[in-house]
Amino acid sequence: MVSGLHPRRLNEALAAMADPGVIALAGGTDLMVGETETERRFLYLHNVREMRGLRETPDHLVVGAATTFTEVLESPLAPPLLKEAVSGVASPAVRNAGTVGGNVANGSPKADSALVLMVVDAVLLIASARGERLLPVADFYLGGKKVDLASDELIVEIRLPKSRLAPHYYCKVGGRRALAISRLSFAGLFRQERGRIRHLAAAFGAVTDVIFRDRCLESMLVGLEIPEAKKLRQDFLAAYGAALVPTSGRVSKEYRRSVALNLLGDFLTVFGV
Ligand SMILES: Cc1cc2nc3c(=O)[nH]c(=O)nc-3n(C[C@H](O)[C@H](O)[C@H](O)COP(=O)(O)OP(=O)(O)OC[C@H]3O[C@@H](n4cnc5c(N)ncnc54)[C@H](O)[C@@H]3O)c2cc1C
Repeated sequence: MVSGLHPRRLNEALAAMADPGVIALAGGTDLMVGETETERRFLYLHNVREMRGLRETPDHLVVGAATTFTEVLESPLAPPLLKEAVSGVASPAVRNAGTVGGNVANGSPKADSALVLMVVDAVLLIASARGERLLPVADFYLGGKKVDLASDELIVEIRLPKSRLAPHYYCKVGGRRALAISRLSFAGLFRQERGRIRHLAAAFGAVTDVIFRDRCLESMLVGLEIPEAKKLRQDFLAAYGAALVPTSGRVSKEYRRSVALNLLGDFLTVFGV
């Protein structure tokens, strides 16, 4: 029989997670699809106060891991890039239950909010009864849906640096307009000052087995004036073409690579490169 624990405070939740027979359940939109065991105790996260809602600190937007997609969409604090990505998740019913923390924890390269967290260099606050740690979201993904999360740990909150939230470019390519898991998605950030590129970030979802970002390639254009960057545009795209080694799945590797490069090219064009 399925039984559940309903903590209201983080310390109670972390104490419960120390039992290996307990598994965290936020919205259940991933877990209940795959869960076949009947003797597990679910730890429901939706009442844990410290894991809910959005708040600001001087440098960060902090998103509680158990915040639902609908709550993100309704929050005046959520940046347009995050709202755009989250509005494309499934349907209202899934958005009402599904959470940002669950989207990260599932380790999927197709996770729509995780793509945004990657491109903005978000940091996860992860805790257990043993203590807490901060981990850049890029280091959380170990490949092949494996994540750096022990069985007694919870993602408590996600910290997004305010200086990295815009200007943005976002596109999700799905099989249809609604209820579509990504065939491919792309998020980019581009900031220039006085005609010189100061920051460029590009993240690709559903191309490889983890969300793809290559800071070394990004740096090819950083520091350049726009006309200099334009001259390097083809080299930049070619370098990504070589670095992106797509996985095959419902769509072919060739399709993934060519759509990824088209989106990267469009991103550059939109920002004048
Ligand atoms: C019909 C349908 C359509 C979907 N469409 C999309 C889509 O378009 N885009 C998309 O990105 N996803 C989609 N999903 C997947 C799913 O909705 C998301 O990944 C969602 O964010 C999962 O969050 P959740 O709260 O429901 O996670 P849960 O199912 O509750 O948990 C998922 C996993 O994460 C763990 N977990 C959850 N929260 C935490 C935490 N705070 N700390 C540690 N571990 C935790 C759980 O133990 C479990 O292993 C879809 C799912 C369905 C059923």
